[in-house]
Amino acid sequence: MKKRILHVFGIAMLLLSGTTFARGCDLSVETGDGFTWPSSLSVPSTCSTVTLNLSHSGKMPKNVMGHNWVLSRTADKNAVAMDGMKVASASGYTTAVKDNDDRVIAHTVLIGGGESTSITFSLEGLSASESYTFFCSFPGHSSLMKGEFKII
Ligand code: ZN
Repeated sequence: MKKRILHVFGIAMLLLSGTTFARGCDLSVETGDGFTWPSSLSVPSTCSTVTLNLSHSGKMPKNVMGHNWVLSRTADKNAVAMDGMKVASASGYTTAVKDNDDRVIAHTVLIGGGESTSITFSLEGLSASESYTFFCSFPGHSSLMKGEFKII
């Protein structure tokens, strides 16, 4: 009897570790009416695509406390954020990323309290030896809401 329980436990552990492996390509960032933001995110280089889920649990509208998730090389981050700042008010706070900005690897739309969004992108062309940063490009947020994106 005891042996059988152990056996079932072993299968459950196998299933669990399988699930964890698949989740490595699926990232979640939860934020709110403040500047909560992870300091780093990492994905295995074996992911063919990565899906980033962004959720905003606050109550403030997106023109006041909007958030998005933008990925660029660390060297491009400040310039991308600067351009995004101008786009935010001009677009009515639907986006804070310049159109066709080839410095941007991936980005979501801007969301406000109670909203969520996601983006799926490929790691093709990215390198584990390059430095990447993910940040929120809502005006004034990128110095606080930024983290290191690692390919491992
Ligand atoms: Zn933000």
